[in-house]
Amino acid sequence: MASRANHLVLLGCGLLCAAALLCTPSVAQAPVAGIATPGPAGVSNYPIASDARLAGDARQTRFILDLDKAVQFRAFALADPYRVIVDLPQVNFQLPAGVGVSGRGLVKAFRYGLVMPGGSRIVFDLTGPARIAKSYVLEAANGQPPRLVLELEEVDRTAFVQSLAPENRPELRPAIAEANAAVARVDTPAAPPSPPDKRPVVVIDPGHGGVDNGTQAGGGDIMEKNLVLGFGLALRDRIEKSGKYRVVMTRTDDTFIPLGDRVKIARNESAALFVSIHADALRRGEGDAQGATIYTLSDKASDSEAERLADTENKSDAIGGVSLADEPTEVADILIDLVQRETKTFSNRFARTLMGEMKNTVRMHKHPLKSAGFRVLKAPDVPSVLVELGYVSNKGDLEHLVSENWRTRTVGSMAQAIDAFLAKRLATAGPGK
Ligand SMILES: [Zn+2]
Repeated sequence: MASRANHLVLLGCGLLCAAALLCTPSVAQAPVAGIATPGPAGVSNYPIASDARLAGDARQTRFILDLDKAVQFRAFALADPYRVIVDLPQVNFQLPAGVGVSGRGLVKAFRYGLVMPGGSRIVFDLTGPARIAKSYVLEAANGQPPRLVLELEEVDRTAFVQSLAPENRPELRPAIAEANAAVARVDTPAAPPSPPDKRPVVVIDPGHGGVDNGTQAGGGDIMEKNLVLGFGLALRDRIEKSGKYRVVMTRTDDTFIPLGDRVKIARNESAALFVSIHADALRRGEGDAQGATIYTLSDKASDSEAERLADTENKSDAIGGVSLADEPTEVADILIDLVQRETKTFSNRFARTLMGEMKNTVRMHKHPLKSAGFRVLKAPDVPSVLVELGYVSNKGDLEHLVSENWRTRTVGSMAQAIDAFLAKRLATAGPGK
């Protein structure tokens, strides 16, 4: 019911303004909820929009909104579908019923409503690409109220795309355009444009999956791919509990994901951190080793065991049938090189932080910090580490790896390290990365 009520308002069919609707308890459950419902006194302080009309033709179209006081606003266009958005301070819409349902000229239809506390929005669906030729507010004059005026002009798609802000250009940010399209789609007008999630992204990468089982124990009953998936999901849940970070998993089920795709996920998300989870094994005759090890990327392996391990982990693609030719060639660029060096510093810092936390709760390898050429750690701009939780070939480690209790403790110390690292990172780098 609640969303239906808003739906009507945003279609411009409602007789009541969005702010007034928000006073009713049912609408407080709508997606625009979470808003302190203004009392009648509060409502009366907002600018009132009393009428709206369109004029012109398919070449040039003008929109006029009558207000009782001048407001500041921002108008911008979006592609796919073609739209123009006008963001205003909170406005008490008292427009005639049915306004905006049908359009004129370049405007197919428009809808309006409250999108957040203190903010209203008008969305124009266009018949085709158009440019905002002019947009301004006129003060009251000659018996006319203050008016917001928008003048649209037909353009071709190329000109339209060029007129967009970079973040709105479809070829630059398909994901953003898609999200905006979803927000403003006619059939879901009640959905307010959710504010972009600015929380730092942590990518958790449970190793292997699908045809690639990883290491095995117990005659094949215990597989690395399952152990690390369970661990990764538990780590995700723990990190998400704080609400401070957004967690993206490279896989949440038994699916094979090529190594390059795991790196791509981290890069596409502009992740603040990438943590790959594995469990090692030594073959019979290779001796015994135990404890957790934290790996960072290096051209030169820190020792022969690290080199052996990187070779093994890098075989994942071969097992899954991914040709190395599919992998993007490494870009030899001085800028990339600089970024890479900085990323390396942060990867090493996180590895040390992680060791500092883990050693209190988890049995660590006798040389717990190592480096080698792991393909999955190769994002030039995302600090990345690979954690081998232990050795499934070691009896004691295996007991830990399958223990719920051990997992909870280890997940806890890893989450602690992630928080410590990112808190420091954000304090120095500011929000956004
Ligand atoms: Zn592995």
